[in-house]
Amino acid sequence: MTSIKKMQLWARKARRQGETIGFVPTMGCLHDGHLSLMRAARRENDYLVVSVFVNPLQFGPSEDFKKYPRDFNRDKKLLCKAKADIVFLPQAKAMYPHKAKSLVNVEGLSEVLCGVTRPGHFRGVATVVLKLFNIVEPRRAYFGQKDAQQALIIRQMVKDLNLPLEIKVLPIVRESDGLAMSSRNRYLSTGERAEAIILYKSLQSAVGMIESGNKSPREIAQTINKMIKSQRSARIEYVKIVDAQTLEKVTVIKGKVLIALAVFIGATRLIDNVTVRA
Ligand code: AMP
Repeated sequence: MTSIKKMQLWARKARRQGETIGFVPTMGCLHDGHLSLMRAARRENDYLVVSVFVNPLQFGPSEDFKKYPRDFNRDKKLLCKAKADIVFLPQAKAMYPHKAKSLVNVEGLSEVLCGVTRPGHFRGVATVVLKLFNIVEPRRAYFGQKDAQQALIIRQMVKDLNLPLEIKVLPIVRESDGLAMSSRNRYLSTGERAEAIILYKSLQSAVGMIESGNKSPREIAQTINKMIKSQRSARIEYVKIVDAQTLEKVTVIKGKVLIALAVFIGATRLIDNVTVRA
């Protein structure tokens, strides 16, 4: 379904009949991470709606909007297998018929971690997600912990704006060697793909350090940095250890912390994270 109007009418009818819609927003090029969200949404609701929309508003001018991987023929088969009731494919010119003048800015949470190098990114994300919520009218919407900062921002928006739905955040799905699944992994060359495992390995080492009693974010970040730098194709954008709820920097590891990183492997920017309770 591409029509916003038709999607809205369908959703309104379902809601009026007391049926629940589980919603999974995606940018397509689907993998098992997306499918895990769909399985949960399928299980917990009467209907599963999946959107596939590469949102121009969340890409910076020098980012990969144009070359973001798109593979709808393959996606179609996976969506069929996942038993999606509706696949919503809005067109950019229908979503943004003119330059958007109303934008959703979730303050604070949007300015740290990925927000530092991607100014406006989370404003683009929050705006499109609110638009999609208004069109799809889900009872529950499903997001991945892979994008931990995004999930917190969406939760905050839902709370602040009294949106009538529940947000569910599901664990990161990984390849068998630990690399977090991502549509962008297909940019990696064979050599880069092998080196990319260092993201997960370094996070695991960090968890090991915390579990054996290390409380120093500085020492833990140092270990991660050193491990990642050992790979030829890796360039670190950030390695941060922050409070898992507020995303504020911690000076001692206590309570629930998020260890988050963004690393370029060659020209491909990858993110990953773990949460640890100390
Ligand atoms: P994207 O298509 O990359 O915008 O992702 C759509 C949704 O899938 C977001 O909520 C992501 O957090 C989630 N997602 C992406 N990769 C993974 C993964 N490896 N495991 C779990 N969820 C994921």
